[in-house]
Amino acid sequence: MNVKNCKKCGNIFMFDGFDICQKCRRIREEEFQLVKNYLREHPKATIIEVEAETKVSVDSIEQFLREGRLEISKDSPIFLKCLRCGENNISSGKYCNKCLLDLKEELNSVAGNIYEDISTATQREIDNILMNIEKWKK
Ligand SMILES: [Zn+2]
Ligand SMILES: [Zn+2]
Repeated sequence: MNVKNCKKCGNIFMFDGFDICQKCRRIREEEFQLVKNYLREHPKATIIEVEAETKVSVDSIEQFLREGRLEISKDSPIFLKCLRCGENNISSGKYCNKCLLDLKEELNSVAGNIYEDISTATQREIDNILMNIEKWKK
């Protein structure tokens, strides 16, 4: 049997492919709905306002955005930091478009033969490739 400590509450739970336990996932889902509904009614709210109104932490809101689950309107003031260049210029995912292009070029030079379709790779695929590159370097 595979048990794991929940990354959120620390309780031991039966591992089923997630980092957090079923209970925390349910809470997280409720938080997600709260934030989603709030942003639908207040598309121009800042992340601080969303936190204040929904009582969902900025960290959780950012995580929803990084996962690409939460969609925000074009004129929303909410931006995430690009994990590569550090600019606050993205509304979902991890990297800005410019960095994604750079990364793709970089990956093409190291992994181009293996990943033929790198120009159409999704962010998730790029993450996997990045992880592999780290492994090869070692
Ligand atoms: Zn938990
Ligand atoms: Zn960037």
